[in-house]
Amino acid sequence: MNEKLDTKMEKITSLAKRRGFVFPGSDIYGGLKGTWDFGPLGVALNNRIKSEWWKMFVDGREDMYGLDSSILMNEKVWEASGHTGAGFADPLVEDAKTGERFRADHLLKDNGIEAEGLSASEMDGLIADNELKSPAGNQLSKVKDFNLMFETQIGAEGKYKSYLRPETAQGIFVNFKNVVDTLSPKMPFGIAQIGKAFRNEIAPREWLFRVREFEQMEIEYFVREEQWEEEFETLRLDIQKWHEHIGLAPENIREYEVPENDLAHYSKRTIDFEYNYPGKGFDELAGFAYRTDHDLKNHEEASGVKMRYVPAEGSPFIPHVLEPSFGVGRALTAVLCEAYTEDEMNGEVRTYLKLPKHLAPYRVAVSPLLKNKPQLVEKARAVFLQLKKEFGNVAWDDNGNVGKRYRRQDEIGTPACVVIDFETLGEEDASLKDTVTVRDRDTGEQSRVAIAELASYLK
Ligand code: ATP
Repeated sequence: MNEKLDTKMEKITSLAKRRGFVFPGSDIYGGLKGTWDFGPLGVALNNRIKSEWWKMFVDGREDMYGLDSSILMNEKVWEASGHTGAGFADPLVEDAKTGERFRADHLLKDNGIEAEGLSASEMDGLIADNELKSPAGNQLSKVKDFNLMFETQIGAEGKYKSYLRPETAQGIFVNFKNVVDTLSPKMPFGIAQIGKAFRNEIAPREWLFRVREFEQMEIEYFVREEQWEEEFETLRLDIQKWHEHIGLAPENIREYEVPENDLAHYSKRTIDFEYNYPGKGFDELAGFAYRTDHDLKNHEEASGVKMRYVPAEGSPFIPHVLEPSFGVGRALTAVLCEAYTEDEMNGEVRTYLKLPKHLAPYRVAVSPLLKNKPQLVEKARAVFLQLKKEFGNVAWDDNGNVGKRYRRQDEIGTPACVVIDFETLGEEDASLKDTVTVRDRDTGEQSRVAIAELASYLK
């Protein structure tokens, strides 16, 4: 969505910056490619996505256990998982003149040539056959594998090497035994984790879609081998429910069944859940893979520690695993794309975010009709504090006139605006005393609601 931004995506990213959702990382120093900072509204939306996910996949179930493992881990973890090798490298190609770097598979795809799963030399062949040049029109270098992990040194002497984790999943595998030994879960069960992951992407691009620092929400769901198909289907439906819960229209979600010849060697089935991003089309939102017993087996071999589940009856065994893996940034992007709406209200074009109530940064905004009338302000403050106690995420907005406040709140997706006016004070009609105007974001309709019933009305 960068160079190929269509107007809708441009409008969304510019709204996100202007209204404090997402800022470029290190902005005052000219930025740092592949990093973004979440502003006050972005962090609110991000936190809601994560807490709704946790509610659905962890607190809402009996078979799921939470975890928060370290970002830095013993380097042996990454050797055992295969991340230090070619398995976690992307094909890098350079503009021979400018040195600019590209992902060879993306360059080929941008030229209409599918290259998923091909080796570096196969991609070299395709580049030569199709006489592909860099976007600047220059010769391209040979394709080479580039490992995506960020390396770092541990301690003052720098004797030990480590990596910023490129996925949260390995933290789950290395804690498998800890969770089993301490909580004695019944099979099948899952371990879930939300946390940062880092990948030194060759060419970060398309806003939050491909970045170097991001957050993941991952589950490793442990099953007996003979259960995997049944549990895969159940989890697939749960993932669909999740996407529905965050407001994504079913027609904008596609389940891409990764063809057998493109599967990772340890995977028997993988589905990419794709979202129809404006100006880009369907691309990965979340992944769902059956990883067999590959990871636990490798860790058992490399560490010498048994990674077995001991059933009440029968012999200990290494469970197989199903892995739903979600990127928070891609979820936030999809949520914003889905919510972004333009319509006409009172003869004017207006922009609003039709966010589900449970995701909106602010549940409601409260304002006095006029900010220079102390009786209105005092009453409005009382209503504001009452709602704040109830919901927490309540905005106080007394800038400009009421119409402008509505537009501002529409643009950040606040589902309702409450206005305290002279009728609230009972000055014009005693029967309206202690009632307020509640204006609905989507329809613009206004209702009169008693303050005493406001919290339940807004729920
Ligand atoms: P892609 O093919 O798009 O590079 P991937 O298949 O490597 O993604 P996974 O390793 O399956 O991704 O990671 C799981 C999820 O983490 C992805 O579905 C995505 O939501 C998120 N993710 C992975 N890499 C990035 C990135 N560089 N920037 C933002 N999100 C990412």
